[in-house]
Amino acid sequence: MANVLAELVSQLNSGALRVIDLTQPLSAQTPLLPLPPQWPNTPQFRLWEISRYDDRGPAWYWNGFETGEHTGTHFDAPIHWVSGKDLPENSVDKINPRKFVGPACVVDVSADVQRDPNFLLTVERVKQWERQHGRIPAGAWFLLRTLWSERTDPEQYINLQKDGPHTPGFVKECSEFLAKERDVLGVGVETVGTDAGQAATFDPPFPNHYIMHGSGKFGLAGLCNLDQLPPVGAVVIAAPLKIVNGSGSPLRAIALTP
Ligand code: MN
Repeated sequence: MANVLAELVSQLNSGALRVIDLTQPLSAQTPLLPLPPQWPNTPQFRLWEISRYDDRGPAWYWNGFETGEHTGTHFDAPIHWVSGKDLPENSVDKINPRKFVGPACVVDVSADVQRDPNFLLTVERVKQWERQHGRIPAGAWFLLRTLWSERTDPEQYINLQKDGPHTPGFVKECSEFLAKERDVLGVGVETVGTDAGQAATFDPPFPNHYIMHGSGKFGLAGLCNLDQLPPVGAVVIAAPLKIVNGSGSPLRAIALTP
């Protein structure tokens, strides 16, 4: 088995394997999910300088920061949702780190989303993908490639209208299929959250969160560069901060790809 790791390093060094950054920049400009007005929102990312080679610290530069757990490119743990609140290993500090590494299955729905920003992935569409690329293996990340991360203007990224945000997601049957019939690690998306923008109005509300986290599955939100991944064959490494009892955390998600 040591040979596998030596071969991995050799292929990374030669460029035969590439490391793709799936992470968006994290700053005070990072767009946040606006909740309906009856609920408090998450704080913006905030950074402040402690010292920068000056009289506050002559030889060192460092910052403090404040962030919500669900800001920017981030990981959702099962405890994030009421349906996952009593599951074992449900917070970021308790998840088995083996689950931070898994193969990626990438479904490209960017053309559908260009036609309809409220596009929802269906079971039929996943089965169509499987006929082309093979069955989704247990323990895979299921990644929804929408090109949504190309919307660099925060207003277009959130796409807030009078009736709330309009962004793509999943029908509840699709989340059920992926969690229960395919036993995925979770789903990853390019949008601000793993449910569609209009999902507060769905039954149940935010069905992907409800079903995935109730099944002990995870979420990755705010990903980018999914267009650089093949439909199958890449490996995602997504390890959240070890926040005690944390419901999620910003993270640096990367993929190894041929
Ligand atoms: Mn989240």
